[in-house]
Parts: sequence; C-alpha cells; structure tokens
Amino acid sequence: MQQKTHKRQNRQRGELQSRANTAPAGRQTPDRRRQQSSIPKAERTSAKITPYPGRPVQSIKRRRARRRRALFYRGLALALFFLFLVGIFQLTGLVYRSARSWIQSREVNSTWSKNDTAAQKVENPFSKPDITVDLLDVNRYSRPGTDLKKVKNIFVHYTANQGTSAEQNRGYFANLAETGERSASAHFIIGYNGEIIQCIPLSEEAYAVKGRNDDSISIECCYLSEDGAFTSSTYNSLIELLSWLCGEYGLTPEDILRHYDAGGKKCPLYYVENEEAWDKLLEDVSQYMEESASE
Ligand SMILES: [Zn+2]
Repeated sequence: MQQKTHKRQNRQRGELQSRANTAPAGRQTPDRRRQQSSIPKAERTSAKITPYPGRPVQSIKRRRARRRRALFYRGLALALFFLFLVGIFQLTGLVYRSARSWIQSREVNSTWSKNDTAAQKVENPFSKPDITVDLLDVNRYSRPGTDLKKVKNIFVHYTANQGTSAEQNRGYFANLAETGERSASAHFIIGYNGEIIQCIPLSEEAYAVKGRNDDSISIECCYLSEDGAFTSSTYNSLIELLSWLCGEYGLTPEDILRHYDAGGKKCPLYYVENEEAWDKLLEDVSQYMEESASE
C-alpha cells in the first residue's frame, strides 16, 4: 500500500518535472502556482499560529486589527472629550470673570446714578479721594445686598486688630461669607498707609452699627499704635473721605459719629478714650471743608 502511493507520487513528480523543463527558467508553471494556492493559506500556517483550532487566522487578524482600530478611536474620542471639557472650563471661567467685572462696574455706576436722582444729592464741592473699589461678593455675613435708602450719619470705626492692613481687613470681611462666624463689614477701610478700599457700594447697607445699618455709611480705620490712635496717613485720608461723603449727602461734620455714639461700644478706642482728639478730628474736617470750598 505504501509502496503504491510512493510510486504514484513519483509518477506525479516526474510529470511535473517534465512540464517544468518545458517552461522558461526561473518561472513557475501556472499549474504549480495553482496547486500551491489551492491549499488554503490557513492550513499552511495554522499549525504554528492558530490559538483557537478551527478558526481561520485571517479572521482573527482582521478582528485584532478591528479591535486595535476601535481602541484607537476610543482613545481619540476620550482625548477629544477631555480637550472639550478643558475648553468649556476655560470658557466658563472667562465668562464668569468678565460678567463679574461688568456687574461690579455697573454696581459702582448705579451707586452714583442713584445718588444723582436722590433728593439728598447735592453738587459735591469736595474732590473725591483715591479709592480702590474691591467689592465683596454678596453674602449673608458681610454684604447682605440690601438697598441703603438714606444716609443720616457717617460712622468712624477702628479695626480692633492692631497692625493689620486694609487688604487684610477686607479679606476678613470676605472670609466671613465662608466661616459665618459673625456679621461684620464697612463701606470703606482706610489702611495705615492711607490707602482707601471700598468693599460695599454706597447704594447698599453694610453690617457695621447695630440698628443703624439702614441709614448710615461706615468707615473702618487700621492703626499701628497700641492705644488705637490713627497714623497721620490714615488720619489725612479719613478727613478727605469724610469731607467728600459729607459733600455727597449734604451732611455736616456734626453728622459724623463714632461707633461709640450709637450703642456705647469702645470704637474707635483712642477717640473714645480721648474725647478732645475726636473733637479735634471733627474740627479738622470742618477746616478742610472750608478750605476746599473756598479754593
Ligand atoms: Zn466699630
């Protein structure tokens, strides 16, 4: 039986060889090529690669390629989505910032236009001192956002926190929104170098004098000395700011009060303990107003 098959194979080989001899050298006969390609490719290589017997390698390769492609597209989609998120985040921040500055500028403008129409408003003969407007965000503890309808008095305070700057005290008011430890604020803070920060619009109430927030404006003053006396820079800015505010609302130095005058709190300490210093301060305001008006 084996011998027979050998013979047949030999015979076939002989035939093929004789045909090959007639064909041009270096080229396969179409027959042999057909013979080779008639064996399925999968069968030729399956013994080495196929992890799942019976499955054609081609389809596995194709599937792998498809999976790779799917993975690539998924990665690409994720990256694009991430970029999109970053873009949205940036855009939101930008819109928020510009909206905020727009609202702030409007608030400041509306403060003045409101006062323009108020019956109280008079032509202000006193020049406005340099004021940095850095408003607090509206919150329960330091900027209630309530309309201030009239202004009868201007209150002077001290921060009761020796050596702290105007910026730090503004930060303290802003921080109350988070801590909620108490309600406190003022329209203006004057630093020990004389800088003035406005943190509440004049059209709104501050939390400064119990029972008088609805008809007054408050000014906090920073200080360096232990007795609570203001530095000359703070003092001079205070005189200018008080004069200008009196001009805005048609008030006189008599309408300027210490926190102490409404409730008895020892604020501003030095000007409570030294009555004559307070009288001098009011005199200085009068004098400044007279001089400015006659200029
Ligand atoms: Zn006070």
